[in-house]
Amino acid sequence: MVHGYKGVKFQNWARTYGCCPEMYFQPTSVEEVREVLALARQQNKRVKVVGGGHSPSDIACTDGFMIHMGKMNRVLQVDTEKKQVTVEAGILLADLHPQLGKHSLALSNLGAVSDVTAGGVIGSGTHNTGIKHGILATQVVALTLLTADGTILECSESSNADVFQAARVHLGCLGVVLTVTLQCVPQFHLQEISFPSTLEEVLNNLDGHLKKSEYFRFLWFPHSENVSVIYQDHTNKILDSFSQPPSSSANWFWDYAIGFYLLEFLLWIREKTKEALLELKAMLEAHPKMVAHFPVEVRFTRGDDILLSPCFQRDSCYMNIIMYRPYGKDVPRLDYWLTYETIMKKVGGRPHWAKAHNCTRKDFEKMYPAFSKFCAIREKLDPTGMFLNAYLEKVFY
Ligand SMILES: Cc1cc2nc3c(=O)[nH]c(=O)nc-3n(C[C@H](O)[C@H](O)[C@H](O)COP(=O)(O)OP(=O)(O)OC[C@H]3O[C@@H](n4cnc5c(N)ncnc54)[C@H](O)[C@@H]3O)c2cc1C
Repeated sequence: MVHGYKGVKFQNWARTYGCCPEMYFQPTSVEEVREVLALARQQNKRVKVVGGGHSPSDIACTDGFMIHMGKMNRVLQVDTEKKQVTVEAGILLADLHPQLGKHSLALSNLGAVSDVTAGGVIGSGTHNTGIKHGILATQVVALTLLTADGTILECSESSNADVFQAARVHLGCLGVVLTVTLQCVPQFHLQEISFPSTLEEVLNNLDGHLKKSEYFRFLWFPHSENVSVIYQDHTNKILDSFSQPPSSSANWFWDYAIGFYLLEFLLWIREKTKEALLELKAMLEAHPKMVAHFPVEVRFTRGDDILLSPCFQRDSCYMNIIMYRPYGKDVPRLDYWLTYETIMKKVGGRPHWAKAHNCTRKDFEKMYPAFSKFCAIREKLDPTGMFLNAYLEKVFY
């Protein structure tokens, strides 16, 4: 029988959000997860699954039952012909990479860090950059979902296709993702070139930069004109024995950032990137007391058809702002946050699901053409709201 622990305190990676779940479980098998759900049904408790706990918001928090997936982390199958891998959803991408490497395979795109799980990254619509590349969830070709009533659904384009279309960006609200099958690519090496530029130059030549580099992104340093352009591209030149898939930031950066607050919205690339950044710059110039930490990172992603993907039916530009917490201390940030969020909403942005935002159902109904379709699927799979929490109540009520 699965053992639950009382008195466990959960904190996200950045230590900006936390909770005290009534019971904390670390199941090792599907049967044990089923037991937790049966107990939750019996006692009328809510359930939240947590992966790597990296989301900089309260999306993974609960005061009900928490299921940590860390012990369900095996590679189940590698199909070298199709270049597909099936994993348990609790696997950290950091543990998956070397396993794929043994078969000369890799994921085509990754977020900035790999201490995150397969189930977690798809849940929040994690992305990196590269206009030919979709968010990580677009690499998913199949998944299995354990729903609130204990049913296991095999989902893919040919099986439970409507649930599949929703569950690739699931927000943790459709059930427990048990396994994920990912489309991989042949292992590859990347070369990174970075060079200084100005905001004006980059915004005026966006198309040129997007064409020049497969994984183009740039960092703008607020309170200045300065930009750092970063190109990452495939190469056959192997400079040392270490290679890894594209990730957007060096480790030193995250080691330094003991904890941070992060906001991120997505926009139509061509129409809105320039408008939004110039307006943010103008607001900072007009309000010298509003201090922004740097950088503002700007990345690009191909559109897709996943119901709640922030890139649903539009090629997108991601723009994130950051405030560090030096020595774990809070710094004033709310004016900057509000200014940024107001601009992003005005130009039609959608918030990153993993990150803090003030949007509610009314906003999402406008932002997502398929919002009601997702809601209908959620209500069918989880009629009692077992997988809801405070974050999701703001989204769905
Ligand atoms: C340092 C750092 C760098 C980051 N860089 C990027 C980046 O470059 N790009 C980007 O897009 N994001 C980035 N993020 C955000 C991060 O990728 C997302 O928060 C991602 O969801 C984290 O994965 P996780 O396994 O920690 O998920 P968690 O935070 O644990 O969970 C995320 C959501 O998925 C649900 N969930 C997790 N596993 C399951 C499961 N098996 N079944 C059902 N629901 C589940 C949770 O309930 C929650 O709703 C970064 C975060 C940090 C802290």
